[in-house]
Amino acid sequence: MKIEVDRELCIGCGTCVSIAPETFELDSEGKSVVKIPQGNDEETIMDAAKSCPTGAIIIKDDNGNQIWPEKQ
Ligand code: SF4
Repeated sequence: MKIEVDRELCIGCGTCVSIAPETFELDSEGKSVVKIPQGNDEETIMDAAKSCPTGAIIIKDDNGNQIWPEKQ
């Protein structure tokens, strides 16, 4: 699983850090960054991604296929 944060979309609300604090942290600009990709389990990371109000967290599987946000 690959985790990316779109810095343009991140508003620094901190929700992902609250849900998955071992995986995400806010950097000096107040934007979320991936601290330790395997810091939390995958279910928790997915919960964090789904809770992001701007859809800034992008999850891909090991083959590079996007899992979240779901494509229409
Ligand atoms: Fe940024 Fe989304 Fe995390 Fe909020 S939940 S800090 S908008 S990535």
